Amino acid sequence: MSRNLIIAANWKLNKGPADAAAFLDAFCVVAKDFKGTADIVLAPSFLTIPSVVTKLDGCDRIAVASQNVSEQESGAFTGEVSTCMLKEVGVQYVILGHSERRSIYGESDALINAKVKKTLAAGLKPIFCIGETLAEREGGKLESVLTTQITDGLKDVADLSDVVIAYEPVWAIGTGVTASAEQAQDTHKFVRSVIANLYGQSAADAVRIQYGGSVKPANAAELLGQPDIDGALVGGAALEAESFFGILENS
Ligand code: PGA
Repeated sequence: MSRNLIIAANWKLNKGPADAAAFLDAFCVVAKDFKGTADIVLAPSFLTIPSVVTKLDGCDRIAVASQNVSEQESGAFTGEVSTCMLKEVGVQYVILGHSERRSIYGESDALINAKVKKTLAAGLKPIFCIGETLAEREGGKLESVLTTQITDGLKDVADLSDVVIAYEPVWAIGTGVTASAEQAQDTHKFVRSVIANLYGQSAADAVRIQYGGSVKPANAAELLGQPDIDGALVGGAALEAESFFGILENS
């Protein structure tokens, strides 16, 4: 089964419209002769999304993601952004369940599940993040933690064709410590087996599983060369056009 790679930049709470425009100016220069086939996704802050979509006009190669969405449709939910609004401005993917949303903002598997379903119902594609802490890994809980996140986060989701999974070990996010290619491959293989149990082997063979956690140009080729790793979700190294492009070049 061949799965097209998907390489996404998660800009987190960085880059207003001016910084994003400067990034895109530089990125278009370095990426203009890029021959790879990977899907490229940029995830700016909500505020920066419209200017990025406008600037990318005509560049079908690059899709835009949001970093979150409300599980609500509309109404009295101060501070929230809906799937309809994201669609209206040209967003295609929504990052959900990122470990920072889980740990800092207390998002539960049930809330993430509601957001996943809302996102799919709107015709948008979730990038559904899972991952264990170091204590969970060292305590032998890796498989149970991931199984619960997957089972509860995807509850009542019948079809995975529009879902991308991102495996991001919490201990590797923003720390400079990357999972070894072997650790990442073993865990991706396990995640795929959980999907096979829930959805059958052909859905498991088709679903794309990104790795995230200190991906950079120097380790991208080895990680992306693993059979069950289908892309990368990149934070720090996606803030500079040259290093994000360096990851694409190593894909
Ligand atoms: P990092 O972040 O590449 O800076 O580790 C990845 C992420 O949080 O998605």
